[in-house]
Amino acid sequence: MTEVSNNITRRTGAEGSRHDPYGFVEYAVHGRHGKVELHLGLASWCKHEPTGKRADGDEAAAAFFEMMVGVTVPVIVKAQQRLEHLEPYRKHQRACGSKNFECVAGYPGEQYTQCADCGALVGYSFKRGAVE
Ligand SMILES: [Zn+2]
Repeated sequence: MTEVSNNITRRTGAEGSRHDPYGFVEYAVHGRHGKVELHLGLASWCKHEPTGKRADGDEAAAAFFEMMVGVTVPVIVKAQQRLEHLEPYRKHQRACGSKNFECVAGYPGEQYTQCADCGALVGYSFKRGAVE
């Protein structure tokens, strides 16, 4: 499981037959009223703990999720992606206390993000388009 924040986690895996596995992604949102799990894969479902309420099928699961969490599935997917992207910065912030990050250019297409206070490299990105 990838812990991305205090309240949204994302897990991926495979299900289905061993010869024809099918990837799935599962989002879990932890809130005041329990945990809402959304499973998107071969089958889609959404489950609420501790009540055990559950909705099956793409549309029913999405509707149930929206009702329980208060935001739509695309919104939570986006939020989770943002959090995952920001996690290295958040982690460094907790360790070093700095909130100042600056971008440093490396080789063509490469970009590093460095902590302005302690100089630690926190992020790295590579833009393929810049070199091809
Ligand atoms: Zn630092």
